[in-house]
Amino acid sequence: MSQTTSPSLPFVQSEMHPSRWGDPALAGPLPDSARGLVELAFGLEDTPGLAEPAVPESGLSDDLLAALRGAVGDGYVLTDDQTRRLRTRGKSTPDLLRMRAGDLSDAPDAVVRPAGHDEIAAVLAAAVEHRIAVVPFGGGTAVTGGLAARREGYAGLVSLDLVRMKGLLAVDEVSMTATLEPGLRGPEAEALLAERGLTLGHYPQSFEYATIGGFAATRSSGQSSAGYGRFDALVVGLRVATPRGELRLGSAPATAAGPDLRQLILGSEGAFGVITAVTVRVRRMPAAKVYEGWRWPSFAAGADAMRTLAQAGLLPTVIRLSDENETAINLARPDDIGDEDAAAGCLMITGYEGEPGAVAAKKDAVTAVLEGLGGTPLGSEAGEAWAHGRFGAPYLRDAMLDVGVLVETMETATFWSNREALYTGVKDALTAELGDGAIVLCHISHVYETGCSLYFTVAAKGADDPLAQWLRAKAAASDAMMAAGATITHHHAVGTDHRPWLTQEIGELGASVLRAVKADLDPTGILNPGVLIPDAPQLASSRPDSSRPDVADV
Ligand SMILES: Cc1cc2nc3c(=O)[nH]c(=O)nc-3n(C[C@H](O)[C@H](O)[C@H](O)COP(=O)(O)OP(=O)(O)OC[C@H]3O[C@@H](n4cnc5c(N)ncnc54)[C@H](O)[C@@H]3O)c2cc1C
Repeated sequence: MSQTTSPSLPFVQSEMHPSRWGDPALAGPLPDSARGLVELAFGLEDTPGLAEPAVPESGLSDDLLAALRGAVGDGYVLTDDQTRRLRTRGKSTPDLLRMRAGDLSDAPDAVVRPAGHDEIAAVLAAAVEHRIAVVPFGGGTAVTGGLAARREGYAGLVSLDLVRMKGLLAVDEVSMTATLEPGLRGPEAEALLAERGLTLGHYPQSFEYATIGGFAATRSSGQSSAGYGRFDALVVGLRVATPRGELRLGSAPATAAGPDLRQLILGSEGAFGVITAVTVRVRRMPAAKVYEGWRWPSFAAGADAMRTLAQAGLLPTVIRLSDENETAINLARPDDIGDEDAAAGCLMITGYEGEPGAVAAKKDAVTAVLEGLGGTPLGSEAGEAWAHGRFGAPYLRDAMLDVGVLVETMETATFWSNREALYTGVKDALTAELGDGAIVLCHISHVYETGCSLYFTVAAKGADDPLAQWLRAKAAASDAMMAAGATITHHHAVGTDHRPWLTQEIGELGASVLRAVKADLDPTGILNPGVLIPDAPQLASSRPDSSRPDVADV
């Protein structure tokens, strides 16, 4: 195994605009190709320009700031407005709408930038001593309120910004594992691994900004999950700083040494501890990448084909299927997907990555199955177009918000036998709440032998209060997921937004187990208060922020 030192990456790279997604250089107005469609569907309305809202004064006293400086050094406790603004909340549409409305009530009092595990342990010790709430901050791409911790009852709230922790700590090319620091963004981690001909293969749509620690803390799933696995399936080891001390987890590829404690940390969203290093399984960089399109007569027929492949052990690296609406909207020229009736069909993307021989063999086997099931091969154009534009959609969301259109996404998962009921239930709930003029799109992008995820994109004409409008729709859709017996989230995590539904999903006993773990690892409750862990029933009824989000909470 080779130990490596931290690379000389600049520790602050391009920051996102506080109320927009992504690289500011890539932001722009609605492209002409989409403008006509959007105007036809919703009308165009100029929304007020994006101001830089004022940040509330930092509430931390000099003594508390001194305690934090003692942990990380003088230069790494920042209280200036812009740094605090940039560490406020994540990038869900409600986050963007709140920021556009000038609401910075969740701004941290300070941004603390530790250089490593020991400094994080020291920050946590100071936070426990002075009762300061600590919000771990990776890439800031959270979409379920995981960065909007509760601050009442605390002397202050700090963002624990992991931006200085960007090292590739070790590589074991015999076992094919790599140990990475949590603050590495997706492209940074891939660049470091690429120097050794390795890849992680984890490409969520937030890849440009999301970090290794964030992937683990939210159980992220990437677009190539069928081939490389979800992020939690890639993790073999974790190092975690908790207020009670250090956890080092994962000493063997598999173990029968009791319940797997790594699973307690994966998805714990900073509520149990701060992930300070992640050991992941890595693969050789693929020499060949091929993406193709297929057309199916219906969403159900395409989904059945996905199930057949999954259950035959024949999944490509990428496999995704758009429903009829998404197929028609996402293809700029719907007729290109085959024939005149193409807009009525459903587009599937299949992608293969690996050694050329293995890619060819898998592609042949998958092609035979899909053709046998009635799929129409469309060749590489649709597949390459998807691969080329795969990170572009979030930029379009900003451009649509700019012209008064509400756009947001949500996701869930269920077993194959329940897919249709879940799909219909969520779609109906969204349409009933947002009205017939709303457009609801769906795709399947993560499949398993036993089931799949459903990812919904919703667009509607923005109401006078678009935030309240969306929260009502989201609550209705979340209720529909529960009514269908599905999960409240397949990969976006729980945060604060899904927390009101978590107990329904895991039961009161399950919620009480989470509270017990929290009480043990974080007895003073300084870590991400109000995120993930459901309140005890007697507290839940007395606290407004743990009830269902409705207009009163906006
Ligand atoms: C446009 C867009 C597209 C997205 N696409 C996908 C997608 O395809 N797949 C997917 O899975 N998700 C997706 N997401 C959601 C989001 O990117 C993921 O949840 C991601 O894993 C979060 O990583 P992050 O580094 O940005 O974490 P952050 O947003 O910084 O934090 C997320 C949560 O984890 C906690 N946390 C962060 N780092 C640590 C750490 N080191 N230790 C402990 N806790 C920590 C935070 O406190 C917070 O609760 C998308 C989001 C956006 C905005």
